[in-house]
Amino acid sequence: STDKEKASSVAKIKVVVRKRPLNKRELAKKEEDIVTIKSHSNYLTVHETKLKVDLTEYVEKHEFVFDAVLNEEVSNDEVYRETVEPIVPIIFQRTKATCFAYGQTGELVVAVGSGKTYTMQPLPLKASQDILRLMHHTYRNQGFQLFVSFFEIYGGKLFDLLNDRNKLCMREDGKQQVCIVGLQEYRVSNVETIQEFIEKGNTARSTGTTGANEESSRSHAILQLAIKRSADGSESKPARVVGKLSFIDLAGSERGADTTDNDKQTRMEGAEINKSLLALKECIRALDNDQGHIPFRGSKLTEVLRDSFVGNSRTVMISCISPNSGSCEHTLNTLRYADRVK
Ligand code: ADP
Ligand code: MG
Repeated sequence: STDKEKASSVAKIKVVVRKRPLNKRELAKKEEDIVTIKSHSNYLTVHETKLKVDLTEYVEKHEFVFDAVLNEEVSNDEVYRETVEPIVPIIFQRTKATCFAYGQTGELVVAVGSGKTYTMQPLPLKASQDILRLMHHTYRNQGFQLFVSFFEIYGGKLFDLLNDRNKLCMREDGKQQVCIVGLQEYRVSNVETIQEFIEKGNTARSTGTTGANEESSRSHAILQLAIKRSADGSESKPARVVGKLSFIDLAGSERGADTTDNDKQTRMEGAEINKSLLALKECIRALDNDQGHIPFRGSKLTEVLRDSFVGNSRTVMISCISPNSGSCEHTLNTLRYADRVK
């Protein structure tokens, strides 16, 4: 098939749900697995235990249908094949694509996260492997260049994860292009270098000022792979962006609820997260309806992603869910969010 046909065969928006396995601690506590997924189907059922007025228990079933539903036996390789792999070839065709991981983040002691980071971390590496392969074979000698950048949005501010957490600011030019002033972009030509950058950024993320998981659960981490090329494909002329692939490990969805916390800082961060997750949902919905007006100004996150929401774009939302009964409410919230995105 032609490149054009290939591009139009990739859905504009795809919503995938991934369930992680019960962990040792949940098993030890004899927590139940309340999420059932029939293999090779695209629906799942959540079994919620509720109490009647007389305090006897009953189970309410909630059914959801998505583009793909991945159970706890699905590997990261399969997740890649289902989500990002189909998009890689079309970013050579002037497409901007974004892959989000959405879901609950664990408190350090009380609960464990739903698998956002576990799911998201391997994807950029696998994608750049495929991108480099295409650059070295299909598009050999055509002057394509690959660049990587990695930054974080924390409390509404931007930090460069590949450059000592330098504070960044955002500027918009007249042509609907967002520019993140000071963001370092590195040209990469092999997988090893990409891997080093990804590891560096991940380390900068999790060992930030307030330390460990606490911070990463309240920030959005954005890794971008950009494909560039100069007008005539030569190295001597300035290269311009052809396509872009963004990977976003979103702040924990339940963090949006921190708006009632007693601590002022926490409350403000919660409000910011809430705002950005709502704005994101609105932007994706607007994209899906081919609405002319995309409400990207609703948050820092959506503003930063502005150029990925206009023009030829693709969006993959991976909603990560925990299987244990203790996470039932968060799981239902995550699935309802994903449901509304579609
Ligand atoms: P989040 O980023 O959503 O807070 P993590 O990705 O850190 O959650 O996952 C929480 C824990 O569960 C980690 O120890 C991770 O290794 C484990 N985990 C998550 N998803 C899976 C999976 N699909 N298979 C096996 N272990 C998983
Ligand atoms: Mg995480």
